[in-house]
Amino acid sequence: MFQSDERGLSTRCIHAGELTDAHGSPHTPIYNTTTFAFPSTAAILDVVEGRKAGSLYTRYGLNPTVQALEQKLASLEGAEAALAFASGMAAESALFLAQGREGIVCIGDAYGGTLELIGQQLPLLGIPTHLLLGDELERLDGLLAGGVRLVFFETPSNPTLEVFDIAALAARAHAHGALLAVDNTFASPVNQQPLALEADLVVHSATKYLGGHSDITAGALMGSKALLDVVWPWRKNLGQTPAPETAALLARSLRTLVVRVRQQNISALAIARAMEAHPRVLRVLHPGLESFPGHPLAVRQMSGFGGMLTIEVEGDGTMAAAIVDRLRLFAIAVSLGGVESLATQPVTTTHHGLTPEERARRGISDAMIRLSVGLEDPQDLIDDLEQALR
Ligand code: PLP
Repeated sequence: MFQSDERGLSTRCIHAGELTDAHGSPHTPIYNTTTFAFPSTAAILDVVEGRKAGSLYTRYGLNPTVQALEQKLASLEGAEAALAFASGMAAESALFLAQGREGIVCIGDAYGGTLELIGQQLPLLGIPTHLLLGDELERLDGLLAGGVRLVFFETPSNPTLEVFDIAALAARAHAHGALLAVDNTFASPVNQQPLALEADLVVHSATKYLGGHSDITAGALMGSKALLDVVWPWRKNLGQTPAPETAALLARSLRTLVVRVRQQNISALAIARAMEAHPRVLRVLHPGLESFPGHPLAVRQMSGFGGMLTIEVEGDGTMAAAIVDRLRLFAIAVSLGGVESLATQPVTTTHHGLTPEERARRGISDAMIRLSVGLEDPQDLIDDLEQALR
C-alpha cells in the first residue's frame, strides 16, 4: 500500500517532487538533453532492464525534469504515480488505447476532441465505444455487463457544468470489474479529488488550470503504478512525452495552483451571482449557485466550485455573438483555466461540429456563452459583462 503525502495541498504544490542540485537550486533544473551517459554497459543494462531507476532517454519520460514533475503531479491528486504528456489529448489517447480496448463508455458532455476521439476515431480501430448522456445512466449497467471495461467522464462537464457522482459511478464500474477514469480538468485537484472518491484514474488537460497561464500545452494521467505501467509503453512508443522545458514550466505553474484556483473560485461565483440577477440573462450554469441542479452533489464532492460558468442570454445566437463581440476584458478565445478571462459561444467553437439536433439533445443552446474566469479584479469582469449586455 503506498503512503500518500500527508502535507497540505499548497505545501505539496511547492515542495513535492522537487529535485535540487549541487548549486543549491530550490527548483528542479531543466535537463535539456535527449539522452544520458552511463559509466558502463552493465550500468545502462540495469536501467534498460528495470533493475535500477535512472535517466535514460527523454522520449521514454526517463528525464529528471519530467520525472520530478510526475512526482509533483501524483502528489497533487493523492496518487501513487503519474505520467506527464505533451497534451491532454495525448493523455486521453494513451489511456484509451492502453486501458479501454475492450470497450469505453463516455458519460455526459465532454470536450469536443474527446467526443470525436471516442465517438469517431477509436471505433475505426475496432474499439467498441458508447456516448451516454447524463439522463441515460440507466443504460450503464447493461453496457458494463456487455463487456465495457472503462467508464470515462468530465465533472463538471463542458459547457453545461453537469456534475456527476464520482463515488456512485465508481461503485457501478467496479461491480462489473471495470475502471473509472475522471477528467478533472475543469475542477482541478484544488476543488476535487476523484481518487479519494474511488475513481481509478484521473486525467488532465494540463494546458488549462495546471499550466494556468495559457503558455503551455501538456497533459497528465494519475493513478496506481500498476495501471500506469500499462500506459507507459503506449506513451513511449506513440512519442507523447512532454519536452523538459514544458515539464519545467508546468512544475513552475503548479507552485501557484492553489492560490490561483481559490481566487478563480471566488471571482466566478461573484460573477455567477451578478449574472443571475441580470434581467437579460435567462440562466446561469455554475455548480456554486444554489439554483443549479447539480449544486447539492457539488457541495458533497467538491471543495470549491471552479472558475467556469455558462450564461444563457435573452435572444438567439446572433444576440449572444453580439454580446461576446462587445466584451473588452474577456478575450474571445477557446481554452480555459488561464490567468486571463476568456469567453466563447459553444455553438461557434467547442460544439460547432455537432448537429443542431445533437446540441439540443445535450442542452446546449445557441444563446449560451461560456466564461473562463481569470485573475483580473472580479468587479472589472462584472462591469465588462454588464456593458456588453447593455
Ligand atoms: N479535457 C478537457 C476538459 C478540455 O477542455 C480539453 C481541451 O480543451 C482537453 C481535455 C484536451 O486537452 P489539450 O488541448 O491539452 O489536448
